[in-house]
Amino acid sequence: MSSHRHQVDLAERALMGTQRQERAREIARVTWVGAGLNTLLALGKTVGGVMGHSTALVADGLHSLSDLLSDGVILVTNKIGGAEADENHPYGHGKFETVGQVVLALILVGVGIGLIADALTHIGRGDLVQPHTLTLWIVLVSIVSKEWLYHYTVRVARKLHSKSLEANAWHHRSDALSSVGAMAGIVGGLFGYPVFDAIAGVVVGGIVVHVGGSIGLQGFRDLTDASVEKGLRQEIKREIAEVAGVVDLHMFKARRLGSEVLVDVHVQVPDRISVSEGHQIAERVRRTIVQKVPTVSDVMVHIDPEEDVVGVAILPSREEYKSRFAAMVSIDGLEVVDVTLHYLGGEVEIDLHLRVNPTWTIEQAQTQAQHLVEHSRQWERVSRVKAVLELPPIGSIGPS
Ligand SMILES: [Zn+2]
Ligand SMILES: [Zn+2]
Ligand SMILES: [Zn+2]
Repeated sequence: MSSHRHQVDLAERALMGTQRQERAREIARVTWVGAGLNTLLALGKTVGGVMGHSTALVADGLHSLSDLLSDGVILVTNKIGGAEADENHPYGHGKFETVGQVVLALILVGVGIGLIADALTHIGRGDLVQPHTLTLWIVLVSIVSKEWLYHYTVRVARKLHSKSLEANAWHHRSDALSSVGAMAGIVGGLFGYPVFDAIAGVVVGGIVVHVGGSIGLQGFRDLTDASVEKGLRQEIKREIAEVAGVVDLHMFKARRLGSEVLVDVHVQVPDRISVSEGHQIAERVRRTIVQKVPTVSDVMVHIDPEEDVVGVAILPSREEYKSRFAAMVSIDGLEVVDVTLHYLGGEVEIDLHLRVNPTWTIEQAQTQAQHLVEHSRQWERVSRVKAVLELPPIGSIGPS
């Protein structure tokens, strides 16, 4: 049984490195476009809202300002997240992306609560003024441009399988929705009911809190190594089960590292194959999954000859068995060349490889082998002993 992190060869590693960098660049480009638009909207709506006396538009503007801040967080963490694994972060820097997500969520929740409190204060004081018509035009521009930004961002996010970018895209759409809420309030205000404008401010604040809360929850799940979605789990398991040499699998685990998925799995292989053949199967599993499931970046495979969920009995080692046999051999011309051990079902099967004096008759050899087999069979937890007579190397004996 062996378990270790399988190293990819250098060419494959270099390829993965450039792909990751290109991906990080593309995410950065989309995020910059969003940040640019958020800057314009934050300025336009906040200034327009203050001058045009609309609580809802100011709330929507401050919402855009907090979005600008979150774009900054994504740009920074994405740059760090795209970096190669190093000595300090041997699993890569993907978690930085998730930490950024959580920070962003906290900012949004804070801003949202602030907006709600502010609008409620205005309603309580009753200092409500009718908004200016200009505010309606500003909010319309905001709705249209944000809906466009959603479509642009979600397309790239799905192409790159970027969770954080997709969250950002949905955020743009919720921004459009937030502006729709603000618009409703402004329209109410224009018709002579400025309290609607303030109520819309509360609604916009609520949207910001909700968006922040859901982003934060997903980030928290990823940080605490919550499992990936059931559909993805089943897809990966199905692919593993189809790899040649895989008998069964158990103790399957998958978690997110930024936008990548890491898998740990125990794979059961035929119980008497060699260690190197088992390793072949493990490597085949790793490569198949990394190629077929694009979000998975690594699979750690533990090879089992049998189902071992309840645990494995630790029995004497090969050195121990070899010295026991050596102690039993008391006659010249008999040599224990090697032992093959199959530790299965809490017991051990021993194949005893013997070489005997070439002048012995087969009967003599058999008698000596029989002696070793009968004694070793009495050892604790030995289920079977089989003697294999090895011929001397070709050419070492012959007619003299
Ligand atoms: Zn390996
Ligand atoms: Zn927003
Ligand atoms: Zn196992």
